[in-house]
Amino acid sequence: MALVLPDSLIYSLKRLSALRFAGISPASRWGAAQLKKYQFLLESQWWSKDQLQSYQWQLLRNLLNHAYNNTEFYRKRFDSLGAHPSDVKSLDDFRKLPYVTKDDVRNSLTAMQARNCDQFQPVEIRTGGSTGAPLHMFKSRNAEHMRVAVSWRTLKFGGVDFDTRKVMINHSDSPAHRQWHVDFLRQLLLFYTAQTNDRTMSMLLKLSGKFKAESMIASIGFVRVLGDFAEREKIRLRHLKTIFVIGEAVSQQDRLMVEQRLGCRLFDAYGMRENAVSASECEYGSMHINSEFTLMEFENSGGVAPAGQSAKIIGTNLHNFAVPLIRYNTEDLGQLCKDGCSCGRNLPVMKIEGGRSRDFIKTKSGYVFVTWHLAQLIDKNMGVAKMQLHQTDTSRVIVRIVKRESFTDADESAIMARLRDLTRGEVDLQVQYVDDIPRTRLGKFRFVKSDLAESQSDD
Ligand SMILES: [Zn+2]
Repeated sequence: MALVLPDSLIYSLKRLSALRFAGISPASRWGAAQLKKYQFLLESQWWSKDQLQSYQWQLLRNLLNHAYNNTEFYRKRFDSLGAHPSDVKSLDDFRKLPYVTKDDVRNSLTAMQARNCDQFQPVEIRTGGSTGAPLHMFKSRNAEHMRVAVSWRTLKFGGVDFDTRKVMINHSDSPAHRQWHVDFLRQLLLFYTAQTNDRTMSMLLKLSGKFKAESMIASIGFVRVLGDFAEREKIRLRHLKTIFVIGEAVSQQDRLMVEQRLGCRLFDAYGMRENAVSASECEYGSMHINSEFTLMEFENSGGVAPAGQSAKIIGTNLHNFAVPLIRYNTEDLGQLCKDGCSCGRNLPVMKIEGGRSRDFIKTKSGYVFVTWHLAQLIDKNMGVAKMQLHQTDTSRVIVRIVKRESFTDADESAIMARLRDLTRGEVDLQVQYVDDIPRTRLGKFRFVKSDLAESQSDD
């Protein structure tokens, strides 16, 4: 029989064993390539508008040339316009290129992938649940390093450094039987929670208190559940100062709740797995586009949308040479803001639009964070074109599926078995096959739709 040690003992042992790494250099601790990019980003955030634009332009020119010379997809795009990358002399010229859609990635990945893809040490990207329709592609190692560096700068905007103790909430299954992992080298407490109930919340608060976590990285859905728990149990998180979330629009209520119930400042960020867009909230509350990473455009039916007007967000990752994403239609809505920010950074300011999203189902005993799990499942070449979970009340969830031709009975069984397992049989699950899943009025796709009282306003 395996010996199960108590959490407090494991924690102390891990802290002791980390001491032997005390003298290790930051480069070996964090990765030299990422660290170099991070240091660059700390400087470039203070660049002038002209400096930022010329840096972007240089990267964009390289990317266009590369895509034209090394991919069948972009070569055809330019040829059909009777154009060559050398004809792209301004952003206005660039905007003549058609959008790349999610369907293009799904259907033409091989043609979009650079012939010399391997030389960029590609990293796999899989998206699923949050968009309701799976997507599979690659990014170059360099683009991944840039993403990591940008995420460090995002934390830095909120005053969080390498030395700050952080707790990160992960909705996936924990790698071992233990629900948490503490990494003293990186000052990180990783907490795994698919099902969240009073027991897991107490455990999380106890551990992060012991760890003296000053900052939390979590989904907004989880933060809302945590806020409710803290309020009900009259708990204050003594050390916690900041919470970082990423995803859809965070409402003013969310910010107030985090301040009042958790005594923290909330920092929002905008991004997606495809890494075609990226923006981070600064200490002055503005959402700055990470211009060194992505080129973001705001367009409506008439072309470039004026600042302050709601528009489609089109993104280009300036570093991904493995599968270039050039003018990618994110299907998100937002706007470029007219005014800059008093923080002094010239990185453009934007707003993301859309209502509250949720990534969990409420059950009798707690909350189940389903998005990651179903994304993992439907990514496995299942015949699912789209999927949505519609919670009609606390005991019933309708599982809507848009099938592809390849969908089989085994796919249904696997999805339902996983859902039954996650919800521990506490909700009645009904599968419903539909031709399409409508978007909200603002064009947003809801992976989890809920009729429960505390649910999102359905925009
Ligand atoms: Zn700012």
